[in-house]
Amino acid sequence: MIDEQKIRQKEFENRLNDEQCKPFIKDVFPFIDKITIRLKFQYTGAMEIENGQQIIKTREDKFYFRIPCINPECIYSDLNLINEINSLINFRETNMNGKKLCNGWQDYVRYKAKNYHCQTHMDYEIEIKYHNDENIK
Ligand SMILES: [Zn+2]
Repeated sequence: MIDEQKIRQKEFENRLNDEQCKPFIKDVFPFIDKITIRLKFQYTGAMEIENGQQIIKTREDKFYFRIPCINPECIYSDLNLINEINSLINFRETNMNGKKLCNGWQDYVRYKAKNYHCQTHMDYEIEIKYHNDENIK
């Protein structure tokens, strides 16, 4: 396997392991019903990509919020909404909007040279629905 494939394979496995070792939402935050994440991406590298997507996490999902970058060449993308979601939950807030810039490397050549970050723009909108039932804490 060439180096690039090895790095991508390892990154893929790391993410998978990372997700697997996270707890289920219902086990850590039983008072949460649903977390909806709406995303809008824009990438203006060699090719221009724009896309939108929605991620819905229910109680049965893992408490894991790393978001895959839309730039297929990106290496070590760091898009993650875990801090935002933790802070919403701490204050029992329901909505948050914001922007993030991917700090991964734009592609393998840039990764080797360590000279250009991916810079995919991600607009996010998080919505958390809590249980109305006060007995569930
Ligand atoms: Zn990226």
